[in-house]
Amino acid sequence: MKKTISQCFERWELFSFFKVSLFSLLTISMFYQGFNIYHIERLHNEIISNYSQLYSISRRFSTYYNNTDTIPLTKGLHKRNNVSIIVSKDTNVKVLSTGINKLKSELKNIIPNSLWTIAVFENPAYYSHYDPLRPSYQSFFDSYDLNSVMTRIVKKEKLSKSYQNFYGCNLKITDSYTEQETGERIRTIYYPVFNNKKLNSLLAIDIKEEHIKNMINRYNLKHHTTINNGQSNNVYHSTSLLPCSDSSPITIGISYIDVLEKSFIPSVFVSVLITIMSLIAKQRDQSFKRDRMTNFYRRDYYESRLKKMRSFSMLIIDIDHFKTVNDTYGHKKGDEVITQITRIINQQIRNDDIAIRWGGEEFIIIFQNMTPTVLQEKAECIRESIAKNKIAGLSVTISIGGIHSTNTTFSNAYKHADSALYESKHRGRDKVTIA
Ligand code: GH3
Ligand code: MG
Ligand code: MG
Repeated sequence: MKKTISQCFERWELFSFFKVSLFSLLTISMFYQGFNIYHIERLHNEIISNYSQLYSISRRFSTYYNNTDTIPLTKGLHKRNNVSIIVSKDTNVKVLSTGINKLKSELKNIIPNSLWTIAVFENPAYYSHYDPLRPSYQSFFDSYDLNSVMTRIVKKEKLSKSYQNFYGCNLKITDSYTEQETGERIRTIYYPVFNNKKLNSLLAIDIKEEHIKNMINRYNLKHHTTINNGQSNNVYHSTSLLPCSDSSPITIGISYIDVLEKSFIPSVFVSVLITIMSLIAKQRDQSFKRDRMTNFYRRDYYESRLKKMRSFSMLIIDIDHFKTVNDTYGHKKGDEVITQITRIINQQIRNDDIAIRWGGEEFIIIFQNMTPTVLQEKAECIRESIAKNKIAGLSVTISIGGIHSTNTTFSNAYKHADSALYESKHRGRDKVTIA
């Protein structure tokens, strides 16, 4: 009977399947880890280039600022194009709202969801612009004297001589900090606008710290990676400073748990594939070597091996009056008899003994390391186990001829065993003869 894949799977050792699964998981996770490490460096570059783009856009603001005319505004809160202007005393004001709107839309192209606030502080502090104006800003602004906002920030961020930097870091990004009023984690880009070494204005752009996390998430989605924002249990991490930043480097890395988690489904898929393929290969190998009906070796597969052997403990087994079985009960019943007899023979021999279907209902068994006496006993056992049982509901017997011989050829051994079989038939069948 043809064995199906599922039947084969029953016999497939579970341990082997686990071994294949474990091996696939380890191999895939190792490759996936390497893949992520390669991408960590690329992601660093992408983050740095993203911030460089932000800086480049921010720097364009100075040209806009320098070419904006002033208009007189009274002390108080004004709103132009959704930008709030706090004026602390009646004065001429550069209305920067259109420029701030443009700056905002350009920044949003690069940081879609993470722009928090844009502010422009005038020096001296007669007025300032905010988009959006958060409630505490007004009182915050009122509490400073004319120069304190600028002086403090410019001193703290070491921007007092930034005009000397032609294009490099003439601006600054802060470490991430929590905005007191909102509790939002942000970093601020400060860009001072100098003219003739005099600080005219300070542009401040607040960016949510989650911007980096968002970039990592987008990168992971696009490249199928599992990079995180520097967790403590990372198996690998790498740090880099944002351009124009002094401290608080950005750390990104990968945790082995994430790598394993992402490798799990592919490795299950691969293990199942390997298992199915090896079962198919096994099944093919099986049908090449083994006879389907009896699961004994096929004669054409094993005969060449027998011809190389020089010592034999061998039995030839032939079913008695088998033609009568076929003629009386039909060929199908005959097949059933053959199947059952070979199954019983199989139970009587060991794994390393060799059973071959030599002809239709004639079989050869080769035993390993067996004395003539034991060979005789074994043959009797086999004969008796058939004779005493009903085979497919019938009483069937077998005749056996055997030989124990060293330093001989297979054809010689076969000739003697066949004569012994003939002898058993001649003596009335259901007999064992060892030559
Ligand atoms: P003896 O006791 O002398 O061995 O008599 P026998 O009738 O068994 O004679 P023989 O061994 O020559 O019979 C072989 C018969 O087995 C001939 C053939 O029709 C039948 N046979 C061979 N292969 C198969 C098989 O796969 N299925 C069935 N049903 N019959 C088979
Ligand atoms: Mg026969
Ligand atoms: Mg025969």
